[in-house]
Amino acid sequence: MPQYNLSDYQKTYDKFSYDQYKGELDWFSGNRLNAAFNAVDRNAANFRKNKVALYWHGQDDQKQKFTFRELSLLSNQFGNLLKNLDVDKGDRVFFFLPRVPELYYGFLGTLKIGAIAGTLFSAFGHQALYDRLENSDAKVLVTNSDLLPRVKKILPQLPALKTVLVTDLKTATGKFKSLSRELKTASDELKVAHTKPSDPAFMLYTSGTTGKPKGVIHQHYAILHEHLTAKWVLDIRDNDVYWCTADPGWVTGIAYEILGSWSNGASSLIYAGRFDPAKWYQLIDEYQVNVWYTAPTAIRMLAAADHDLTKKFNLSSLRHLASVGEPLNPEAIAWGQKVFGLSFHDNWWQTETGGILIANFPGLKIKPGSMGKPVPGITAAIVDDNGKKVPVGHEGNLAIKPGWPSQMVKIWRRPEKYQSYFKAGWYISGDRARVDRDGYFWFIGRADDVIKTAGERVGPFEVESALVSHPKITEAAVIGKPDPVRGQIIKAFITLKQGVKPSEALKKDIASYVKKHLAGHAYPREIEFRDHLPKTRSGKIVRRLLKAQELGLPTGDTSTLEEY
Ligand code: ATP
Ligand code: MG
Repeated sequence: MPQYNLSDYQKTYDKFSYDQYKGELDWFSGNRLNAAFNAVDRNAANFRKNKVALYWHGQDDQKQKFTFRELSLLSNQFGNLLKNLDVDKGDRVFFFLPRVPELYYGFLGTLKIGAIAGTLFSAFGHQALYDRLENSDAKVLVTNSDLLPRVKKILPQLPALKTVLVTDLKTATGKFKSLSRELKTASDELKVAHTKPSDPAFMLYTSGTTGKPKGVIHQHYAILHEHLTAKWVLDIRDNDVYWCTADPGWVTGIAYEILGSWSNGASSLIYAGRFDPAKWYQLIDEYQVNVWYTAPTAIRMLAAADHDLTKKFNLSSLRHLASVGEPLNPEAIAWGQKVFGLSFHDNWWQTETGGILIANFPGLKIKPGSMGKPVPGITAAIVDDNGKKVPVGHEGNLAIKPGWPSQMVKIWRRPEKYQSYFKAGWYISGDRARVDRDGYFWFIGRADDVIKTAGERVGPFEVESALVSHPKITEAAVIGKPDPVRGQIIKAFITLKQGVKPSEALKKDIASYVKKHLAGHAYPREIEFRDHLPKTRSGKIVRRLLKAQELGLPTGDTSTLEEY
């Protein structure tokens, strides 16, 4: 047995073509393919039929489990229910729900009839909800009675929205229908739509870290890339219990909690409750989680809460750890090594890319602070603003050769925005990075966040990484602040470890620490201590908000921000 699912990265990369791996999926005749069929139904018909696909664990320790066969039947019922509501191919069905089982089989059922499934993070307020439902012209919305008041507020302004399915409604009135009742009368036999690989399957809005969220559409064929990356990057195997901590309101929760992971036959844990370090470790222990996919913000919070907490649980089942969403500071990798004896494997991708594109693979050496190497099938490069490759080691735009299966196929109602991503034969990601001699990619910052101080360009990520390696710091975000002499100076916003008192002396100590560990010019001339840093609900630090506050500018779209 090979040690990893991808036993020889270089060989696979060099010889790769998507056509060669088409056989990993089940196709209908005439080159037709359905992503949900591949995620669940084919496993419901093979040796995995009675295998648990979903271990569901609620906030108050309620538990449910569903086999592949059960998920297949429930999603069939959901598909039939939508058909009864006159939902056609291409219509949008949105889910405004916490991480409950209905969300997962509802999503699958929507794809199975060829409609487009969209997800909305359950913490959205009514304005965020309105913007997305209005923009997408959703025909059906699935929600629960806790969230219903927010829906009611905006319903009169949404003429396209014909039906609101409420998971726990007793009696139907007007547009409101009870999901559980409707499901009961829906048949569990469904002829799955033989969609074309290029037919739209799901849509979701970007995280809104840099501005107004964009409605990104993905095709059914995306599942090929998601399947291969779940196998090779996340290293999911048949006997594994896999836990992805993302919410399906964001792309990670779709690509690697529903599609790519289930198409590999993973038994997945889904925890519907809030973040809590002790609870998270208890779940790893209870379900004997083997593969864990999470985000830097969670890792930093776990590290801050550590104080020997990990020793109270049996975490020895863990075999492979991965991280996405923000740059992973080397400090976080070192902490993982210390407490789990394992490294977190960083990987890079975006809502628009639909799947992991650059990764630290389980069989390759990790260079802490690097995002890793391009996934087989992906040609990545660093290019200048004209699309010309820059020399090794130089900063530039992180760009990808278009044409991979999970590449977005459009931005809903914004064709010019979609076009703006492509230049000189490249997909331009909007992130700045560099590549080293060994082909490892290093994240520098979002294009808007790179700082120019005294003629030097400084990437926020390396300054933040130096800051969080300081023993008294938990999190850090840096911005460029206009300065008459230097153009910009580096200003750092910092949260301190529990019990550490802010002081002027500590500011000095931090500044000289960065000078010593990073570079003389790249230290923060201004430091501000904060209790919290502003983050998106998916856990990303929002530097644009810090900048706006600092400069007294409008804060822009804040619909995806956490209350803080
Ligand atoms: P918006 O596009 O609306 O501003 P967003 O870019 O945060 O929001 P996502 O698509 O969720 O929306 O996030 C993708 C971005 O997250 C990437 O472009 C990159 O800036 C950041 N990112 C994701 N993974 C990594 C990583 N491993 N290292 C560094 N940055 C990462
Ligand atoms: Mg983005």
